[in-house]
Amino acid sequence: MIEHDRLYIGGELVAPAGAGTIDVINPFTEEVAGRVPEATEEDVDKAVAAARHAFDHTDWSQRPVVERAEILSRASALIQARMDELTQLISTEMGSPSAWGMFGQVLAPSMILDYYAGLGADYAVEETRAGMFGPVVVRKEAMGVVGAIIPWNVPLFEAVMKVGPAVVAGCTVVLKPAPETPLDAYVFAGIMEEAGLPKGVLSVLPAGREVGEYLVTHPLVDKVTFTGSTAAGMKIGAACGALLRPCTLELGGKSAAIILDDADVATVVPQLMDAGVMNNGQACVAQTRILASREKYAEVLDAVTEAVAALVVGDPLDPATQIGPLVAQRQRERVLGLIDQGKNEGARVTTGGGRPDFDKGWFVDPTVFGDVDNKMTIAQEEIFGPVLSVIPYVDEADAVAIANDSPYGLSGSVWSGDAAHATELAKQVRTGTITVNHFGMAFGAPFGGYKNSGLGRELGPEGVDAFMEKKALSLDPAAG
Ligand code: NAD
Repeated sequence: MIEHDRLYIGGELVAPAGAGTIDVINPFTEEVAGRVPEATEEDVDKAVAAARHAFDHTDWSQRPVVERAEILSRASALIQARMDELTQLISTEMGSPSAWGMFGQVLAPSMILDYYAGLGADYAVEETRAGMFGPVVVRKEAMGVVGAIIPWNVPLFEAVMKVGPAVVAGCTVVLKPAPETPLDAYVFAGIMEEAGLPKGVLSVLPAGREVGEYLVTHPLVDKVTFTGSTAAGMKIGAACGALLRPCTLELGGKSAAIILDDADVATVVPQLMDAGVMNNGQACVAQTRILASREKYAEVLDAVTEAVAALVVGDPLDPATQIGPLVAQRQRERVLGLIDQGKNEGARVTTGGGRPDFDKGWFVDPTVFGDVDNKMTIAQEEIFGPVLSVIPYVDEADAVAIANDSPYGLSGSVWSGDAAHATELAKQVRTGTITVNHFGMAFGAPFGGYKNSGLGRELGPEGVDAFMEKKALSLDPAAG
């Protein structure tokens, strides 16, 4: 069992203000795997004050961008050096299969830090344009103190999605990990410190929703960046709106994989396993609606069913495991409830549909639904479990209409033997990202959602711009 009795505030491990603690429960063993202090509002005040001081009274935001970017490079190397330990730790916290987690939970975060380090190496903060009376310098200036709130499903990944670009920009950060996954955040804080992050630039406060709300509305915070559910994102967006505080919101998804008739089903379906049920289906970008034409419907449904039925379910630390337990008992009950709703609304379970016969662990059977109408709850709501819906379409226009008939707009994919045609179709899907004949994220491109999937973008230069104010500095016309 891993125990911390201090909070990481402003670069020091300090005694928490309150006596509350958070137990981290291993979703496979259902036993307590760790314990950390629960941060309180008083701790938020301290962390924000430290961040404020580092921003206002040290040279942090004025340092050359390249100097800050080098910290990210070193942090990436330190993450890679601790790959096995971090993979195991995150699997223990939230049940991610370690075979996937090694890449998705640990290597990907180090790659994101490398991306931002590279971007920071030649990120221009000033540009001169012609003004009406003389030159005007357009400057990007760090926004200031950032309140960053992240979910449990890919905790280290989300930490670097916030802290990486904030460091390039020259901001300071108070990071609130989800109460389910605070342990890896301690490791991350240690790594950032070892990589050379100055004191005050980062604090880590494990806590729940109320303390999160306090951080969002704290008077000394300049910018909020949040990843999590759409319901929480709407509340946070409203709170920021009332304060006219800039916020970036990365929220839920219900993405569609459109399989065109000329796609090779045998090639596509194995890739859909990763796209659809990676991380036990607990991924915002999961392609959980699989769209097939009426002509190819039976072939696609059979292939998806067979592939899902063959997934190895078990101990997340066993390298053979493809599907581990869900993060929490409440999440298992929620997913099982949605599966029941699918059955009640007339969808047909072709594999799974219940719980595997294990004596412990918050498992749900990897499940496929056939005969799904896109209006059904299972096709509209984000399930966040290993549950796929195969939906028939009449023609390609219908496929696009079904893909777009969603409150969400995060991700998607189009699969076809004709890549150019698939690309044209992809342009009609109203989502922030979409891939053709593969599934994956491009760290150099903006990532974010249309509609209820969010506001603003992370990754790419856009990810750094989200932490920068833009100032127009008009020079003395006579000086030039
Ligand atoms: P959640 O919204 O319940 O919690 C996320 C984080 O926000 C946690 O740290 C939580 O303590 C905090 N929080 C909750 N309500 C808050 C409030 N009102 N004010 C301040 N903080 C608050 O989500 P979750 O269950 O932890 O995560 C799953 C969700 O995250 C899914 O909907 C998933 O799609 C989404 N997600 C989105 C992305 C993306 O980039 N779009 C990535 C990963 C996960």
